Amino acid sequence: MRILVINTGSSSIKYQLFEMKDESVISSGIAEKIGEEIGILRHREDGKEEIRKERFPDHRSAFILIEEYLRRKDISAVGHRVVHGGERLKKSVIIDEEVIKAIKENIPLAPIHNPSNLEGIIISKELFPDIPHVAVFDTAFHQTMPDEAFLYSIPYRLYERYRIRRYGFHGTSHAYILEASASYLGIPKEKANLITIHLGNGASITAIKNGKSIDTSMGMTPLEGLMMGTRSGDIDPAIPFFLMDHVGLRPEEVYRILNSESGLRGICGRNDMREIIELREKGDRMADLAIRMYTRRVKKYIGAYMAILGKIDAIVFTAGIGENSPYIRRKCLEGLDIFGIRIDKEKNRRNEKEISSEDSSIKILVIPTNEELRIARETKKILEEMG
Ligand code: ADP
Repeated sequence: MRILVINTGSSSIKYQLFEMKDESVISSGIAEKIGEEIGILRHREDGKEEIRKERFPDHRSAFILIEEYLRRKDISAVGHRVVHGGERLKKSVIIDEEVIKAIKENIPLAPIHNPSNLEGIIISKELFPDIPHVAVFDTAFHQTMPDEAFLYSIPYRLYERYRIRRYGFHGTSHAYILEASASYLGIPKEKANLITIHLGNGASITAIKNGKSIDTSMGMTPLEGLMMGTRSGDIDPAIPFFLMDHVGLRPEEVYRILNSESGLRGICGRNDMREIIELREKGDRMADLAIRMYTRRVKKYIGAYMAILGKIDAIVFTAGIGENSPYIRRKCLEGLDIFGIRIDKEKNRRNEKEISSEDSSIKILVIPTNEELRIARETKKILEEMG
């Protein structure tokens, strides 16, 4: 069975075609700079990369070119990444008119992501009309959170009327990490208690109890929680009002500041962690400050999630920073020996899969995430359920 996974962003389309027999990638690619003067499509297959530079005025024009590469590839189904499934879409589903309507209804909750995800779905359903299309939601994994975790302490009627609540994101990644960690630890997924820490450009942390998400740091939108590349994460909710009332900023300017000019970038001017670590090593004080703030926030959440979880099997790092930066991992866990969390410096430096020391009571793991593979697996599962 061959499954095509599509992730449509506002100016890019990523795709991977999996052979599910051995979960290998047959071909993959990315179309970028859609809507710009010159777009670029990179298609990889058989160890070779083909690059096409041409203008893609819209998503459709890029999709048409992608379809040419994937034609006659005997694809059984398409799995689409969709950011916001809201409360109604708790699981991966076959996309029909009802599902399209529900994704549309969630646009106010994900105004940047859901419209392009939806456009990708509509165009690829036209280009691949005879096979099932499945939507896999970033929010779905977190739909198991109890009400005391997902509600905000604001008037309950705002939840009832407008569905204002914590949804959580990166669910596909946290769910993949759960499966991979349970399999590494040799325990059933349904019994695993974990803290999974996704540190990429966006960042989030999840408390998993008996294989279910019971709390996560991102909220109604991906802006809440950890300090990120350019997003603020948690702040005093009065700050936006101060910026509007006393500084005279417009709501959209405040939104832009919190989403695109804050986080690591807001403190040290950069949002790429590799560069920030290099700058710090050269003595840059603001880079050092940004890292201290970043890792302290992660540590605070680890403490909070240990308190609500009780017993945990492992703390797991993933995504660009989590997978590759021994320094950041070490800083996040510094001083946690008292809770039985002990890192092995050498294993950590070598980016080994298990980086806890022999005497650590909680295992510390580093596992590369693979959201595309998780989407392909979910799609396969739905097809099999259909019979
Ligand atoms: P995205 O959320 O866009 O998928 P990634 O998961 O690829 O992002 O993470 C990107 C981040 O990972 C960037 O901040 C990048 O600097 C960081 N990163 C990648 N490799 C390293 C490394 N070796 N050391 C520190 N940070 C790294």
